[in-house]
Amino acid sequence: MFSDLVRYIKDVFNNQEFIPLHEPRFIGNERKYVLDAIDSTFVSSVGSYVDQFEEKIAEVTGAKYAVALVNGTNALHLSLLLAGVEANDEVITQPLTFIATANATSYCNAIPHFVDVDKDTLGLSPKSLRNHLESIAEVKDGFCFNRLSGRRIKACVPMHTFGLCSRIDSIAKICKEYNIALIEDAAESIGSTFKNQHTGTFGLLGTFSLNGNKTITSGGGGAIVTNDENLAKRAKHLSTQAKIPHKWEYKHDAIGYNYRMPNLNAALACAQLEQLDFYVKNKRQLNDLYFNFCSQNNVTLVREIENTSSNYWLNSIVCKDKTERDLLLTETNDNGVMTRPIWGLMNELSMFKNSPKSDLSNAQWLEDRVVNIPSSVRLDG
Ligand SMILES: *Cc1c(COP(=O)(O)O)cnc(C)c1O
Repeated sequence: MFSDLVRYIKDVFNNQEFIPLHEPRFIGNERKYVLDAIDSTFVSSVGSYVDQFEEKIAEVTGAKYAVALVNGTNALHLSLLLAGVEANDEVITQPLTFIATANATSYCNAIPHFVDVDKDTLGLSPKSLRNHLESIAEVKDGFCFNRLSGRRIKACVPMHTFGLCSRIDSIAKICKEYNIALIEDAAESIGSTFKNQHTGTFGLLGTFSLNGNKTITSGGGGAIVTNDENLAKRAKHLSTQAKIPHKWEYKHDAIGYNYRMPNLNAALACAQLEQLDFYVKNKRQLNDLYFNFCSQNNVTLVREIENTSSNYWLNSIVCKDKTERDLLLTETNDNGVMTRPIWGLMNELSMFKNSPKSDLSNAQWLEDRVVNIPSSVRLDG
C-alpha cells in the first residue's frame, strides 16, 4: 500500500541502504573548532566558544540574552525555577510532547496540567487553553489558581512540535491575561519563526536543545534565551553551582546546579550554528518534495500554518486511522526506511495519570495517526 512512498523516500535519499529518521551533518568548521578547543586546554565550562555560542544564538533568535547549558531538559528545569515555579504549583503543557517537557516540571515538584493541541500545528491550542481556563481558573491576588485543585497555575510551557510553530501570539495573550508565566519549549524549533519572530522569544524565557537528533547539535547541549537581564544573570549563576565569582574562595549563595555547557560542546555548536540557514533551507526543500508526492498520492503531510515558517525538523504524515498507521510503520521499517509514530500522550504515563487535564480529543486523534518520516539534511539532493 505504501510501496510508492517507500520508493520515493529512497529515491530522495539517493537509495541509501538504510535511511535513518534524522542524522547529524558535519560539513563545516566542526573539526577545526573542536580541535582548537582541545589545543586551548579549555575543554570544560569556561572558554571562548561558550561565550561565542551565547552571542550567536542570541543573534539568531533575536533575544537579548542567551545562556548555554548542558542540555534542553536542564534548560527547561532552570527556566521553570527562574519563573518562580515551586512545589505543588501546576504547569500547563501539552500532552503530545517529548517527555522532557513534563519531567522538568516534576523536577520542581510541580504538577503538569495537560491542555489539548491543535490538529494542524500539533502544538498547544489557544482555543482549548482559553476554554479550559474559563471553566477551571480564577485570578486571585495576582495569581492564577485552579479552582478544582486549589493549586496555583504558575507557568505554561507550549512546545513547537517537530519545528512547526504553535499559535504562540494567542497563547502569549491568554497567559498574560491570567498572569501565567510563558516559557516556550523551542527544543525542536531552532530556525522556526512566527510572523518573522523567532520561536522562544514570545514569553519570559525560551529553551533550545542541541541534542544529536535535533536540527543542529553540540553532541549534547541546550540554551535559555530571554530579554530579561536579571533572569539571564540568574540563569548563569544557578547553572554554575551558584558560586560567587572570586579568585580563590568557594562561596555559594543558593542551591545551584552543574548545568553549564562545556567549551568542547560549544565549539561544535558554533560550527553547527554557521550551517543553520543552509540546513533550514535544505529541510524546507525536502518538505516541498514530500508535499508534491503526497498531494499526488492522497497522503496527508503536515505543513506550516499561515504566517509561520517551520524548520521542518521532522516531517510528519497523518494517516487515516491507526490501522493505516501501523501498515505504514511496518512497510517502511521493513524496507530500510526508518519511520516512527508520534509520542504516546503524557497523561497516559503512570507518573502523570492523575495530573489535571482538559478535554484531549485532538491529541488522542493525532496520537493514533501521526508518523515521522526521514528528514535529515540532504547533502547531494
Ligand atoms: C529534545 C527535546 C527536549 C530535551 O532536550 P535534551 O537536550 O535532549 O535534554 C525537550 N523538549 C522537547 C520537545 C524535545 O524534543
